[in-house]
Amino acid sequence: NRKYSPVGDKNVWVEFTALARDFKAVNLGQGFPDYDSVKYLNEKTLECAKESSNLLHQYTRSPGHLRLANAIANCYGKLTGRDINPLNEVLVTVGAYGSLFNSLTSFISEGDEVIIIEPFYDCYAPISVIAGAKCVFVPLKPKTDREMTTSADWSWDTKELEAAFSPKTKLIVINTPNNPLGKVYTREELQQIADLCIKHNTLCVSDEVYEHITYDRAHIRMATLPGMWERTITVGSAGKAFSSTGAKLGWTIGPKELIRLCQSVHNNSIYCCPTFIQEVIARCFELELSRLDTDECYFKSIAAELKPKRDRLAKLLIDAGLKPVIPEGGYFMLADISKIAPNFHSDENECKDSKFVKYLIKEKDENTLEKAAEILKNLHVD
Ligand code: PMP
Ligand code: GLN
Repeated sequence: NRKYSPVGDKNVWVEFTALARDFKAVNLGQGFPDYDSVKYLNEKTLECAKESSNLLHQYTRSPGHLRLANAIANCYGKLTGRDINPLNEVLVTVGAYGSLFNSLTSFISEGDEVIIIEPFYDCYAPISVIAGAKCVFVPLKPKTDREMTTSADWSWDTKELEAAFSPKTKLIVINTPNNPLGKVYTREELQQIADLCIKHNTLCVSDEVYEHITYDRAHIRMATLPGMWERTITVGSAGKAFSSTGAKLGWTIGPKELIRLCQSVHNNSIYCCPTFIQEVIARCFELELSRLDTDECYFKSIAAELKPKRDRLAKLLIDAGLKPVIPEGGYFMLADISKIAPNFHSDENECKDSKFVKYLIKEKDENTLEKAAEILKNLHVD
């Protein structure tokens, strides 16, 4: 928990984005799509600019611009098979970050415990610590040492998961599909967590920003498991759903009693998200909603588009002597570096993966530059 203290200025994105910029390295760590956002995003933006009355340049409804709240409720209503009330079961936030921040800070009280499954998206721990919680970590571990492993080979030890729950547990944070492992939780795994949440009367914050990016296994929504809607907060992101990280819009979906709490933090910190971009994203949702069951739907085509890139990158890593874990979802890939970098070790200040990536960024020579150029050519990255 000391390591995740919010005090101090260490932030992996700030640090590595600056390093990549300074040393002109390709940054595959930040989820910054190099391909275009969903094709019609510019069209919808122009449409709004042309049609808009001045109202799109003024504050909108605090918990979410009505057209967007309606579109989210309609879309997730279809995806979850339950009626979602746009007025009190949806909260539009500043990215998934906003959703994570206002839900964790509204539920956690000083002295609570928060269970986090490792490896995890880095902000869960510092936000929980800001809110006064102690983090209890449960690692996903590889269950095989085969040459080719996939994220499905990783799971937790059931006893460790059970032991993490205590009378102080307020909530568990899960992330499926997972960043960075790419694991897509199975129904059995979700059920195990659901059973424990119900048994210990805890909440579940389910970060599902990569919900539409799955390759080998369908995404299952925690909130759809029996008895879980009442205790689950689902987090989504326009950055991922429409490949538009700059839109910086996210949403929280859940029962009105929980949304009301998140909203009180939102009201007093953000008040409302930018109106114009909410209108644009509302129109994007409406379009996808009209073709949700077809292959043209972006929520389906994005994974089809990314899958061959995943396979190509895995091959390139193998050719470079690394051992990738093939992700079932999301757009990140972990790789075992021990064969090519056996001399990197973690110490109390820094983990070996961080040291190794810094080494790659700073010490790259002509050969690695050439190799990077070759990789880029194959990946069609600018
Ligand atoms: N959760 C996960 C798992 C993510 O990968 C990201 C983006 N990297 C976020 C939350 C934050 O998303 P946003 O950009 O919408 O704030
Ligand atoms: N890796 C994060 C993502 O998936 C990066 C987030 C950030 O830049 N803070 O987009």
